[in-house]
Amino acid sequence: MLSAILVTLVIGGALGLVLGVASKVFEVQVDARIEEVTGLLPGYNCGGCGYAGCSGMAEALVTGDVNATAPCKPCKKEQRDAIVAYLKETPGPNGETVTLRG
Ligand code: SF4
Repeated sequence: MLSAILVTLVIGGALGLVLGVASKVFEVQVDARIEEVTGLLPGYNCGGCGYAGCSGMAEALVTGDVNATAPCKPCKKEQRDAIVAYLKETPGPNGETVTLRG
């Protein structure tokens, strides 16, 4: 009985250690700006911009796949200006900012 408990503890500890190391090795850096820009977009998730939703458009803006907010037709001028200003002033994980045309 005692040996079964010890074996279970050893196996559990070993698996926990492996999972802990794997989570550090395979960690995916998420750019927090994507979530912020998603919040600045209209939030209709209509797909009119050509992306599956506002989060897709936000990711495209942050990664430079799109260099303007123009594909989002429902986006108002204040929202566009806020996104442009935010990306211009906020560096990503690599320390670089994004300059949009508008
Ligand atoms: S067009 Fe604008 S509101 Fe519609 S999904 Fe794209 S970013 Fe969102």
